Amino acid sequence: MSLLAIGTVAFDALETPFGKTDKIIGGACTYIALSASYFTKPVNIVAVVGDDFPDESIQLLREHGVDTEGLQIKAGEKSFFWSGRYHNDMNTRDTLVTDLNVLATFDPIIPDAYQNCEYLMLGNLTPQVQLTTLERLRTRPKLVVMDTMNFWMEIALDDLKRVLQKVDVLSINDEEARQLSGEYALRKTARKIMGMGPKTLIIKKGEHGALLFQGDEVFFAPALPLEEVFDPTGAGDTFAGGFIGYLAATDDTSFENMKRALIYGSAMASFCVEKFGTERLLNLTKEEIDARVQQFVRLAGFTV
Ligand code: AMP
Repeated sequence: MSLLAIGTVAFDALETPFGKTDKIIGGACTYIALSASYFTKPVNIVAVVGDDFPDESIQLLREHGVDTEGLQIKAGEKSFFWSGRYHNDMNTRDTLVTDLNVLATFDPIIPDAYQNCEYLMLGNLTPQVQLTTLERLRTRPKLVVMDTMNFWMEIALDDLKRVLQKVDVLSINDEEARQLSGEYALRKTARKIMGMGPKTLIIKKGEHGALLFQGDEVFFAPALPLEEVFDPTGAGDTFAGGFIGYLAATDDTSFENMKRALIYGSAMASFCVEKFGTERLLNLTKEEIDARVQQFVRLAGFTV
């Protein structure tokens, strides 16, 4: 089923306890698209970069089945830039720099070929752009999943709440969920956020897994204990790409299937953190992904 993703396509500079990178390719949409491409193709994207963004990176996306007709390249402007530093636990980080650059004036234009998309991933970027994208689609997608982060809660909360009213699933981390709801206990947090619009809520807990809420139902996906965690950047977006990619490929939005999608998303995120940036997402095989999903099945499976 057709999948459209929006979000940032960006330069990132990262610092983790294991090393530092200068500007590398990142952005929410980049991670979402690469991850989803292992489940469904093409992945259509609507995003913006400056003319400092390398052609080879756009080519790389194309080679992974990402359709870049909706990627605008703005002459004379700079791409979105984000820099972050991870703490020793690798679960928390500080944002050092957010330079919106080309994102500040982004007008999301949806190519005709992307209209009628059935699955829409509103990846992390300006809430107003998320809203405009939804409004510009002639028919409402079957499923709309949204991601966001504390940065937007701080500067654009009203817009963010407007988008929330229109989405089916929200995926955020525990700290952001608490910030958005003003509640600490996750059950209460979830109920409050679901009252803001999304019928389904995913609360990501980094190396401690993810929770899926819908009505009174709750499901937990663990995170795989890994030998090596190099760089958590993009794990949340990679998770979201795997989640919606799996749902689009199976074209089943039931809660039971969302549970499976949560595991596939978690499996994709577990690959992402093993190397810096997008590196680990570039050469995965279906066999590797299936084998990792089986590790999740063994990790959490038990009988009573
Ligand atoms: P994650 O680790 O999944 O939260 O995503 C990290 C990615 O999000 C990086 O590649 C950044 O380029 C991108 N990013 C960071 N801050 C923002 C923001 N305020 N809006 C959109 N994307 C962002």
